[in-house]
Amino acid sequence: MPKKTPRLGQHFLRNREILEKIVKVSEITPYDKVLEIGAGMGDLTELLIENAREVIAIEIDPSLYKILKERFYRRENLSLINQDALKFPYEEIGEFKVVSNIPYYITKPIIFRLIESPNLISMTLTIQKEVAERLAAKPSTKDYSALSIIAQYYMKLEIKFYIDAKFFSPPPEVESAVIKMDRRDKPPIQVRDEKLFFRIIKSAFGKRRKMLSNSLKSVISEPREFLKNIGIDPMKRAEELTIKDFAKITNEFCKFCKG
Ligand code: SAM
Repeated sequence: MPKKTPRLGQHFLRNREILEKIVKVSEITPYDKVLEIGAGMGDLTELLIENAREVIAIEIDPSLYKILKERFYRRENLSLINQDALKFPYEEIGEFKVVSNIPYYITKPIIFRLIESPNLISMTLTIQKEVAERLAAKPSTKDYSALSIIAQYYMKLEIKFYIDAKFFSPPPEVESAVIKMDRRDKPPIQVRDEKLFFRIIKSAFGKRRKMLSNSLKSVISEPREFLKNIGIDPMKRAEELTIKDFAKITNEFCKFCKG
């Protein structure tokens, strides 16, 4: 049986109506290859097998893997994998969509791992409500963060609905949300150097209460002068800048980059 303490984020969602709603908003079709991270007891897996061409379900816990093996004996369009989802080779499976009730302790690393996989088409994830709100946040709101900009650079995001903790067994301490992310054909803005773009964003939000003239010092030597010259108010804080503003800072700064 699964471990008694939910050490591996083992909060099971066994409400059929909610699971059907997740599959509906995921917009998977009988042509899709779908990947599930953390299959648990297999209730969501069951619906995915019925609705997709092929399902790859990853589960780290050997005892749950055994339950899944028995439950889905002879289901030909399912591959069960007993592995840590953070170590799975996503680049090697062709185009895929993800539909998962994510173990919450790996939410951020797994989202970034998936975003980095060029074959990912979309992901429909049940995650902590507060992380979903941070991912989808707009500028000048309290949830707007480096995570919001980096995710929105690659993906179009929409929170589809919320799930009360009582629907999970055992209930987690936080509320949950189902978020759908579709990969953009191309980023909403163009940057000359993506690495620098992300460094600037992280540095600005690393000191989000400070003005840009201070928070950008670790990347730009004279941020006040530089920002004034490119028409961005150095008294502003990171949370007041749009993704376009960060692109402008990067591209203007890159005029002085080597190479
Ligand atoms: N999909 C099931 C459901 O909806 O009820 C289970 C969801 S539960 C929130 C998360 C599942 O992920 C658990 O079964 C847990 O054992 C598994 N898990 C935890 N860490 C994992 C990891 N690093 N890789 C793969 N599976 C993991």
